[in-house]
Amino acid sequence: MSRIGRTSFLAFLAAVLSGLTPHLPAQGRPVTPADQAAGQGWWAHVKALADDSMQGRLTGSDGYLRAAKYVVSQFDAAGLQPAGVTGYYQPVRFDVTRVLADKSSVALLVDGRKEPLVLGHDAILSARGIQPKSITAPLVFIGYGLHLPEAKYDDFDSPEMAFSSLKGKIVVYINGGPGDLPAALKSFARTSPLEKALTDAGAVGSIAIPTPKSMDFPWDRIAANASQPGMRLAVDPKDAAVAARHPALADMHRTMFSATFNPAEADKLFAGTGHAFAELVALADAQKPLPRFELNKRLTASVTTENSGVESPNLVAKLEGSDPSLKNEYVLLSAHLDHLGMGAPANGKTIFAGAMDDASGVASVLEIAKSFSQSRERPKRSMLFVIFTGEEKGLLGSRYFAGRPTVPETGIVADFNLDMFMPIFPLKKLHAQGLVESTLAVDARAVGGEHNIEIAGDPEPDRNSFIRTDQYSFVQAGVPALAMKFGWTANSPEYKAWRQWLAQRYHSVEDNLSQPVDTAAAAQFNSFLGDLARRVANQAGRPHYLESSFFHRFEQ
Ligand SMILES: [Zn+2]
Repeated sequence: MSRIGRTSFLAFLAAVLSGLTPHLPAQGRPVTPADQAAGQGWWAHVKALADDSMQGRLTGSDGYLRAAKYVVSQFDAAGLQPAGVTGYYQPVRFDVTRVLADKSSVALLVDGRKEPLVLGHDAILSARGIQPKSITAPLVFIGYGLHLPEAKYDDFDSPEMAFSSLKGKIVVYINGGPGDLPAALKSFARTSPLEKALTDAGAVGSIAIPTPKSMDFPWDRIAANASQPGMRLAVDPKDAAVAARHPALADMHRTMFSATFNPAEADKLFAGTGHAFAELVALADAQKPLPRFELNKRLTASVTTENSGVESPNLVAKLEGSDPSLKNEYVLLSAHLDHLGMGAPANGKTIFAGAMDDASGVASVLEIAKSFSQSRERPKRSMLFVIFTGEEKGLLGSRYFAGRPTVPETGIVADFNLDMFMPIFPLKKLHAQGLVESTLAVDARAVGGEHNIEIAGDPEPDRNSFIRTDQYSFVQAGVPALAMKFGWTANSPEYKAWRQWLAQRYHSVEDNLSQPVDTAAAAQFNSFLGDLARRVANQAGRPHYLESSFFHRFEQ
């Protein structure tokens, strides 16, 4: 513990004497020379992986494969065992789509008039799914677009707008949800339930409108990233079997119009309806119910895409456990290797180096793997170190691995995922995704206590982080999972540093090797996470979802 001053010591004494326990916030551990040295080891991996020669590690690119070779060489050097399909590699096949915005067009049809929209400025077309070549369909606004019959909430089937009335229509919705629904559930509804509801209702497309509060960075960057190739898992003979075991992991290969609308231009959709976008945003910001109504206009679009395919591997390494029976169970540490590749010059730079996103996480997995391997005491369960491809394309590598693991599926007991864990200030607190869902919270808090780190839940659930990192693929497969980031308190300097990082560097060419990083704090985090993984690997019982968790239903 760090030193406390004389005044606070007296206050502490007074509190003890009066029988009260003073609340001293966790202060982290003092930085030691060992932390500093370990931090340099961690940073060396980040430097290698975010080097210009890796060209931003786009899924399937030469740069990605070079980065994969680096990871494999480190796995080898740490004395781990290959646990992929071919050595450390688990090949994954992708369909690739690039939307050619200059050969595509979108317009609104209002009272027989055609109002063209500017692609990039007004809206962007998604490259993730399969877009129709041309489409003309009426637009309807369905509030938050949440389909959660299990929670007795359904924007797709309401008194104002019945499920059956959505057939042949394009649904428009805004991000967020009512305050009485748990945050993780609202995030979940943005994934498989949305796809299923659209298909079951016979809708022909969807348009999402982010609320300004839910945007990590300005529209310009969202628009710039729209020229990125989108990817899907290629159709695979095992798909049906995976879908039968894990319905939430099923990837739908169906044609559906999909776009995102610029909130600053959203009134083009709402004009003439008696509703203004600002009024709807105010309700969404207050987590209040939204109305659902016809938009009294149609959308017409012609979409030109360029389609190809690519193969890109996940990487899997194993450290065998010491217990004759528990060694058949696995605790996973995971991170993603892919990033955004290269783009048009911005500030004179073309490479999306992805130093924090997620070279930092891969570097931590490598460092923790090395420390496990060097330790005299093997954990009872086996450790699996898994590096994913295709994360930036929609958690695809992890989704593939969770549905088709290279070790017996029932043996996977937990996943700890690292995705830009943000060591940009000292480590005192961690924000964890999935903290209220499983018994892993007990373990995280116990080990956090030993390291004097406070473990807290997600303070910004509207950012949907829960479904935006690879731990979510394991949640969908019923595996207890946590993803953690350096935490802050509201309006603190740390909070400002975090928001500034999102606004200026996240998914931009500025997430490179020239940025402030607290390497000793990163090493302290690695030490914490290693201890946490070891605790779970050594425990007699497996971690499990809580009865109170919605995601309990996915546990097998
Ligand atoms: Zn990312």
